[in-house]
Amino acid sequence: MEPQSDSGMEPPMSQETFEDLWSLLPLEGADYGAILEYPDCPISQTMPALPEAVINAPYIAITSSAVPSTEDYPGTFGLQLEFQENGTAKSVTCTYSKDLNKLFCQSVKTCPVLIRMSKSPPNGAIIRATAVFKKSEHVAEVVKRCPHHERSNEPGDDSARRSHLILVEGSSQAQYVEDPNTGRHSVYVPYEEPQVGSECTTVLYNYMCNSSCMGGMNRRPILTIITLESREGSLLGRRCFEVRVCACPGRDRRSEEENYLKKRGLKITGKREIPSTPVSDSGLPKKRVLTEEETFTLQIKGRERYEMLKKINDAMETQDKVEQHKLVVKCRKCREDFKPKKGKRLMVKDELDSE
Ligand SMILES: [Zn+2]
Repeated sequence: MEPQSDSGMEPPMSQETFEDLWSLLPLEGADYGAILEYPDCPISQTMPALPEAVINAPYIAITSSAVPSTEDYPGTFGLQLEFQENGTAKSVTCTYSKDLNKLFCQSVKTCPVLIRMSKSPPNGAIIRATAVFKKSEHVAEVVKRCPHHERSNEPGDDSARRSHLILVEGSSQAQYVEDPNTGRHSVYVPYEEPQVGSECTTVLYNYMCNSSCMGGMNRRPILTIITLESREGSLLGRRCFEVRVCACPGRDRRSEEENYLKKRGLKITGKREIPSTPVSDSGLPKKRVLTEEETFTLQIKGRERYEMLKKINDAMETQDKVEQHKLVVKCRKCREDFKPKKGKRLMVKDELDSE
């Protein structure tokens, strides 16, 4: 290609849109990568300021991509989610576990999510909620209602949202979206500044199916992704939490937390576990004593009972003698096999304990 004559052209003004800039390109369909590889090439001098404009173009967040990100990203506005402290009583319809970062709720019940920002996002920002399956093998599948709950017409349901799992309660501005490429559902509301005297904005969500619903979630755990987006669609912040929609949120939260803490080796009750081996004053476990030095006398009523208890006692005495004998044999064997050395005594004791 010949060098262009208008190489002294002024770079386009920054007010132009991306399309305008693109149309100004002198080399339609040219491989700019190849050009940039050869900066001495005369063509590169003819290039307008577009490459920079491309580099600086606003990042359009695709919040409903095939595999949506579930990583927390507070962003420059410090997006945070908070939940009401609802405990694990039987009657609770919605409760959040901090340990598990998991919301337990009943279907069609109000789930308030408190949105906190460290500073105000730009005007026109939105808060979007998207449900995704937690496990990677299901993540590409769209989370929607089961056929049964899709048919059931809840108050406020209309055709646009009938298959949506997540609804926003009490907002006429909620928009229900189905991504044209992925079919993924989401619902968004305009971000509203917290009311006077409060630090959070509350959005009320409803989950319209149970996690166990056949043909829907089908017992597959889901996550809810809350995104803060600009009017232009840029991602400004993201937070994520797991959700279980069930009949007994309080009970399920309690049992899942117990399992979680058990796995971590902690006791939920906070009680200290009684050590299986008595601890001596020095803090070291006492070794089991085969034959007690002390003897006790037991008054027993009735011969039959006496005979029975004597049998037990005799059996225990015999057992003690056998063990004592074994110990002696072992010690003798040790003495014969090895010369005394460090750690030998410990080995004998260990063998004794394992019997
Ligand atoms: Zn359902």
